[in-house]
Amino acid sequence: DVKATVAQILALEAAGCEIIRVAVPTMEAAEAITEIKKQIHIPLVADIHFDYRLAIAAIEHGVDKIRINPGNIGSVDRVKAVVDKAKAYHVPIRVGVNSGSLEKDLIAKYGGHVTAEGIVESALDKVHPIEDLGYDQMVISIKSSDVMMCVKAHELIAAKTDYPLHVGITESGTLISGNIKSAVGLGIMLNEGVGHTIRVSLTGDPLEEIKSAKLILKTLGLRKGGIEVVSCPTCGRTRIDLIGLANKVENLVQNYDLDIKVAVMGCVVNGPGEAREADIGVAGGIGEGLLIKKGEIVKKVPEDQLLAVLKDELDHWNK
Ligand code: SF4
Repeated sequence: DVKATVAQILALEAAGCEIIRVAVPTMEAAEAITEIKKQIHIPLVADIHFDYRLAIAAIEHGVDKIRINPGNIGSVDRVKAVVDKAKAYHVPIRVGVNSGSLEKDLIAKYGGHVTAEGIVESALDKVHPIEDLGYDQMVISIKSSDVMMCVKAHELIAAKTDYPLHVGITESGTLISGNIKSAVGLGIMLNEGVGHTIRVSLTGDPLEEIKSAKLILKTLGLRKGGIEVVSCPTCGRTRIDLIGLANKVENLVQNYDLDIKVAVMGCVVNGPGEAREADIGVAGGIGEGLLIKKGEIVKKVPEDQLLAVLKDELDHWNK
C-alpha cells in the first residue's frame, strides 16, 4: 500500500524521524520501493526475511539499506548473490542478533544461558562471512530486552569492532515501560559514545517512538532545538489545574521551531523563582496567574487566559 506507507513515513518525517524501515514480505512490496522512494526524503531500509530474491529486488528498486539475517537467507550462494548485489549498488547491509534467538551452542558455551558475550560472538559470526565475500559496508544491530545485558553487549562489541551500531532496546513494552527502558539503555550507551543510529521500540504509535527518541537525544545534549517544557510537581500551594495546563502546554509547543525553555508552575509564590532558568513561563494563582520571563513577573493574567497568552508570546517570539 504505497499511499498509506508514504503517508505514515511523511508523518514520521515531520515528527523528526531521520531513517525509516519497512518490511518487505513480498515481491510486490520490493517493487513498490521505487515509488515510495520518490515521495519521501529520508533513507529507506528494507527488512528482509528468508527470501534472498526479495533482498536483491529491494536493492534493484533503490532501497538505501537492507536488513537481513544471513542465517535465514539460506545457502552460501544465496548470501553471496545478495552481497554481490549490495556491493554493486553500494547498499549497506545491517546484520544482527536478537538475544531471543541466540544459537544453542553459544548459550552452552557461556554457561547455559543467554549472555552479553554470547550475543556479541553471535553478531560477529554474522559479520565475518560477509567480510569473507569482500564486503564491509555493514551496520551491526544487537537486540536484547534485558536492558543491562543489552548495554553490556554493546560496550563489548564497540570495543571489538568499528562497524556502526544501530542501538535500541527491543520488546521494551508499551509507552511507560518502553520509554523508561529505552531512556535508561540508550542513555547509558549514547553517553558512552556507543551507537550511531537509534530506535526507540514501543508497543504503540511509531510517532511516540520519534518523540521519545528526540527527547532522549536532547536530554543527553546530543541534539538541540525545540521547546523544552519544565513544570513543577505541584504541592499544597497549587490552586489551579496544573496537570491539565502542563499537558496543554506540552501539546502547544510541538508546533514551534524555537530553541527555548517554557515553565509551567503551580503557584505565584515560588513559581517565578523556581522557573528562573526558563525563558518564559506561567505560574498559577487563585483565579489568575502570572506570565514570567527569566524569573521576572511580566503581567497578571486571568487563569483561563494563561494558555492563550503564552501562545501569543510564542507566536511572536522571534520579533
Ligand atoms: Fe509548589 Fe509552587 Fe513549587 Fe509548584 S512552584 S511545587 S506549586 S511551591
